[in-house]
Amino acid sequence: MSDQIVLEHVTKTFTTKELGSVTAVDDFNLAVKKGECFSFLGPSGCGKTTTLRMIAGFEDLSKGSIYLGGKLVSDKAKNIYIPPEKRNLGMVFQAFAVWPHLNVFENVAFPLRVKKVPKDEIRKKVLEAMHYCNLDGLEKTFPSDLSGGQQQRIALARAIVVNPEAMLLDEPLSNLDPHLRESMRFEIKRLQKEFGFTIIFVTHDQAEAMALSDRMLIMDMGNVQQVGTPWELYNNPKNRFVHSFLGQSNFINVDVRGGTVYPVGGGKPIWVDNDPKHDGEQVLACRPNMMELSREEGFPCRIIKRTFKTDFVEYLLQIGKDSAIVQAPHRVLFKNGEECFLKIHNPSYYEKESDEAAKERERRNVV
Ligand code: ADP
Ligand code: MG
Repeated sequence: MSDQIVLEHVTKTFTTKELGSVTAVDDFNLAVKKGECFSFLGPSGCGKTTTLRMIAGFEDLSKGSIYLGGKLVSDKAKNIYIPPEKRNLGMVFQAFAVWPHLNVFENVAFPLRVKKVPKDEIRKKVLEAMHYCNLDGLEKTFPSDLSGGQQQRIALARAIVVNPEAMLLDEPLSNLDPHLRESMRFEIKRLQKEFGFTIIFVTHDQAEAMALSDRMLIMDMGNVQQVGTPWELYNNPKNRFVHSFLGQSNFINVDVRGGTVYPVGGGKPIWVDNDPKHDGEQVLACRPNMMELSREEGFPCRIIKRTFKTDFVEYLLQIGKDSAIVQAPHRVLFKNGEECFLKIHNPSYYEKESDEAAKERERRNVV
């Protein structure tokens, strides 16, 4: 599959009077394939919108280059900049960016009027786009008479009316109630199948990203942390940030000696790891649903607290100086205070954190 959207060393620094210069996007490299549904995930302020705006052409670059369909559209050094209307992209943003003074037909027709498409063709294309977005019969209605979900459909119809090669969706579902979100999600996938465009989807909803994406990336402070399939990112997070950002995490400070994993802060071994590269002080990371409690085998542990949840039971364990959460099925029930055994599946190991790094993490309110 060929690459549809390529970013090379893309950097954006904003300079403002109040804050001085802020690097919102820092040496960002990415290749999104044709027809792929690709998501950006990351905390608020990490640079997702800025990256999308640079791809769309609403923002110039401080450094680097962007290619769309093999064509160079932004390059700082070569002084190349193709304006948004010539990039053949569709865009939908979080806020319902529809024009209140235009009826639905004119809202959807807008990008075609900018392109000076002949009238008859505009009518045909607009009605078709409206049909695909379930807006039939609403041509003369004004957005204020429509629900949030319908307004977002207008934005979607306006984006697909130009038959774009790619769609940039910046938290398009965030303002919708959960039921509508679900149906719009389905709608977007259906449209993608129909039209075959590439999607970059920005969301803060992890479940949404996992369900929709062929691949996704996690970013933090303007940097790409990891790119991969939803499965890869969840099961093989390459650093602590990715581990903690996606899904639930336990981080346990351990000291690995000759393959035996001892908790820092005292206590019996919790695991044996035969990979010699893991020897020394590290942080062992694992998912609550990848820890298994047993009465027969494993490493000794004690249940501090038990909490019933709908689909599992949650147990709190104390492991050395850290606590850990285990999610276990209802079918075998352990008691508060019970001594039992623990097995850890698919743990990851990360470098031991410095005190400064831990402080910075706490300041940023990251696990
Ligand atoms: P996200 O979409 O991931 O929440 P943004 O791309 O909106 O993040 O913002 C990234 C960083 O860039 C933030 O620190 C933000 O304050 C800053 N930023 C974004 N746009 C501007 C701007 N026009 N002027 C100055 N700083 C900006
Ligand atoms: Mg944003």
